[in-house]
Formats: sequence, structure tokens, C-alpha cells
Amino acid sequence: MMELFKIGETIIKKLNNNGFEAYFVGGCVRDFYMKKPVHDVDIATDAKPDEIKNIFQKTIDVGVEHGTIIVMAENIPFEITTYRAGGTDAGNIRQDPVLFSSRLNEDLERRDFTMNAMAMSKDMTYHDPFSGRDAIEKKVIITVGEPDDRFEEDPLRIIRAIRFMSVMKFSIEPSTEYSMIQNAHTVENVSVERIVSELKKTYSGTGLKQAKQKLVQTHLIKYIPFLKYVNPDDYLQSVAGDFLDELIIQSVKDVSLIKSINDLKISNAEKDFVKNSRSLFKAVTDGESPRKIAYHYHEDVLIKFIKLGRGNELNLNMTALNDALSLQPSLTIRSKKDLEINGRHLIALYNMKSGPWIKECLNIIENEVLFERVNNNHDDIINWVKRHVEIGPESIKVIE
Ligand code: ATP
Ligand code: MG
Repeated sequence: MMELFKIGETIIKKLNNNGFEAYFVGGCVRDFYMKKPVHDVDIATDAKPDEIKNIFQKTIDVGVEHGTIIVMAENIPFEITTYRAGGTDAGNIRQDPVLFSSRLNEDLERRDFTMNAMAMSKDMTYHDPFSGRDAIEKKVIITVGEPDDRFEEDPLRIIRAIRFMSVMKFSIEPSTEYSMIQNAHTVENVSVERIVSELKKTYSGTGLKQAKQKLVQTHLIKYIPFLKYVNPDDYLQSVAGDFLDELIIQSVKDVSLIKSINDLKISNAEKDFVKNSRSLFKAVTDGESPRKIAYHYHEDVLIKFIKLGRGNELNLNMTALNDALSLQPSLTIRSKKDLEINGRHLIALYNMKSGPWIKECLNIIENEVLFERVNNNHDDIINWVKRHVEIGPESIKVIE
């Protein structure tokens, strides 16, 4: 991680050489102070996006309108952001005019929590006008400035407080928490995507349990899509490794939740995973045979379910799930496409027009092959069909 700061230092020096100031800012300074691994290093500068682009060879525009440019250095992306000032109220800026420009302070002042509002110069000295280090020592999350103002400006910060609570195992300073409760309803105005992104991070934290308790206790949960419909006791009881696990567990406990999955604007793959899980749960509960379960559900869904079933009281038939998983590698077919017979063969065999009977007939064959009563071999299947399937004008009959 020192490596990242070393490369970052060369970026800062280059900006300095061109007459600009630049500092490490945000999460990387916090994590560095806490001696935690630093994954990305962000830099704030008084250089404008165009000026940044002129100085560095390899840059990528990510949010020029927000003043952010990515500078590639040794194939690592660094986010360089032009100082931003927050609200119009600039009267409260604490500054040290000798060492730091007021604009750096303004940039720090618009950040959410004191631990995230520190800057560090290239020689690794801290600029910490809001006592972020003190908050870190005390393990508290505290807004920069008046919590009501800051949460009104951007209610996502309320969810971010919960996220940091989980990820850092910090507690929330009482006046900050009080304001979170007062402003909880404003979370409804935040885009779902931003909320989900913070929730996913929340689930990666070791303080997840406490964070979930806080979501319930502050009533924040009532303003979060999907989670607002979850029974709070079920929510607190679940053991989920990530946010998707939570969605699966809760949808299994309460079918009516499935329709609210769409409110979350998660990816289609994620939605499908939750929906498949729910339908797998139903199949197992209905006593479907392990072989059919193995055939109809993806290995990933089975494995996920076995894992969730161990940690949660889902009333699952674990034997059926385990049997299904162990049967899976030896299945004769994985889908209808694997059958050595198709609709055209059947049309030729019966000399009949195409119609719904084909699908019905293929379903029957599929089942026979799946249960290994017929070999998946063209001739064997044709012979079996000739002897056992009777196709009438209205219906198909299987004769034993
Ligand atoms: P992580 O290690 O998870 O990336 P981070 O602190 O870097 O944590 P980011 O979401 O990447 O968090 O944001 C980077 C920095 O931008 C934060 O440290 C904070 O200073 C500032 N920031 C981000 N979102 C907000 C916000 N909604 N309001 C105010 N400041 C914010
Ligand atoms: Mg970050």
C-alpha cells in the first residue's frame, strides 16, 4: 500500500511542479491512519480538469462535470478531483492560511464524516481541520458540521453512516445518530442505486450485526426499498454473507417479498438468482425429487442454498438439496437441447404437422431420459416413442 502512496506522490509532485497544490484525501487518508490496507488513493488539487489533462499523458474522463479525472500511473488509476466547495455557507471554514489554502478546507468541509475529511500532503503529514483522527481514536462516526444540515444536503450520508459502522466497527456519535433518526424519512428521496451500493458495502463489514440493529432501531429500514417490507425480527435473525443472501433469505421466509425485488434496481442476473432461489425453495418444500431439482437448478443456486440453510432456519430438506447437488455431475442431460432427438425427427416419425404435441412429446422423452429409463440415443428414443407414446388428435398418451 505504501507503493500506492509512492506513486501518488509522483503525481502530486508533478502537479506541484506545474504550480498547483495537491493532497491525498478521503478514505485513503483514513485507512492509512488506521494502518488498514489502502485500495485506492484519491487526490484533490486546485488544478482544473483541463489543466490536469494537459499535465498527464494518460488520463480518463470519469466525471469532468464533477471535476474528476483519472490519471493512469504505472497502470494504476488515480482519481484526481478539483477542489469542490460545498453549500453556499462558507462562513464556518476553519483554516490555516499559512499551510493550507482555504479551498482545500472547503473541499474537506463538504465531506460527510470527520474521519473522511482529512487530507495528507505528499510527505505524509496530516491536515485534519475537523479532528478526524480524534474520532478514529474514539471509534466514532460524526458528521462534519451540523448533522441536520449535512443529512439534508444529501440523505445518502445517513446510510453511509450505517455502512461505516459495519465496515469499521465504529459507533455513531449521539447527536449524529439523533439527526439520522430525525431525517430517516428523507432516505426515500435518494436514488435506489446509491442506497443499494452502500448496503452492499455494509454487508461486507464485520460489524454487520450492529449495523442491522441500527437500521431497525433508527427506523431507517422503513424507508429502504424492499427491506421496508421485511419483518424486523426476521431481518435481525438472518445470517447473510452479502446483500444478495439477505434478499434470498427474506424472500424464502416471505413469498410476498419477491415482487419487491424489482424495486431494488439490482442487475437482472441478481434478480434472477433471487427468483430462482425462491422457486428452488418451493420445489424442495413441495417434495420435488432430487434428480429433478438437480436438472432444473444451477449448481450455484444449490450451493448457495445449502450454505444459507446451514446458517438460517429455513425449514429446508437439506438431504434433498445435498442429493441433488451430488447427482448433478452424472445427469445424462442438462437441458432439452442435449436430447438426441428433436421436433423435426418427431414430425418425420409421425408424419404429422407441427403443433403443441411436439413440445408435449419432447417433455415426456426428456423425463424418461432424465430418469435413465431410456438411453439418450436417437434410435433408442425412437423405438421407445413408437412403443409407448400414442398421439391422438387431441392428446398424447403414454402407454406402459
Ligand atoms: P471506501 O474505502 O469504501 O472507498 P471511502 O471513504 O473512500 O471508502 P467513497 O464512497 O469512495 O468512500 O468516497 C470517497 C470520499 O468522498 C469519502 O471518504 C468522503 O470524503 C467523500 N464522500 C463520498 N460520498 C460522500 C457524500 N455522499 N457526502 C459527502 N462526502 C462524500
Ligand atoms: Mg473510496
